[in-house]
Amino acid sequence: VLPVLAVVGRPNVGKSTLVNRILGRREAVVEDVPGVTRDRVAYDAQWNGRDFTLVDTGGWERDVTGLDARVAEQAELAVEAADAVLFVVDATIGTTDTDEAVVRVLRRSGKPVVLAANKVDNARTEAEAASLWSLGLGEPLPVSALHGRGTGDLLDAVLGVL
Ligand code: GDP
Ligand code: MG
Repeated sequence: VLPVLAVVGRPNVGKSTLVNRILGRREAVVEDVPGVTRDRVAYDAQWNGRDFTLVDTGGWERDVTGLDARVAEQAELAVEAADAVLFVVDATIGTTDTDEAVVRVLRRSGKPVVLAANKVDNARTEAEAASLWSLGLGEPLPVSALHGRGTGDLLDAVLGVL
């Protein structure tokens, strides 16, 4: 049985884009409209010769009331079944109440967490990632799932805890 890495975070932060980047192929569904990813989708992934299962999450609706609760609920289910968590936040937006709700779930789980500060597409926006230290989950690792920037370092960090 392979170790399981769950990718969690609120809608539209780039989870599925990051999953595709890690897989090296387009399989997870990326949409400008949040909510297209089915609840949880598992993929076989590999980095530096190590195999693991990568679980993309989603499945909530864009206009659903109580978004925080729904996202947190999804995160909880995914985290329960995971050995480690890749928590994705949109660095260009910063932390939201929904992110905070996910953080509480992650804390309770006691599972190791790697924090990805996504949408850091260039050096100019790298400073924005630093604001995510406030989540209390350690170092935010700046990445651009879209361009592949920083994803190697991110995966190295992930394998360190998986
Ligand atoms: P998810 O809902 O968290 O799975 O997010 P998606 O992967 O579906 O992406 C949502 C939107 O963010 C899409 O329009 C992506 O193209 C965009 N996106 C994802 N990653 C990045 C990134 O690193 N930089 C930028 N600029 N946009 C991104
Ligand atoms: Mg998605």
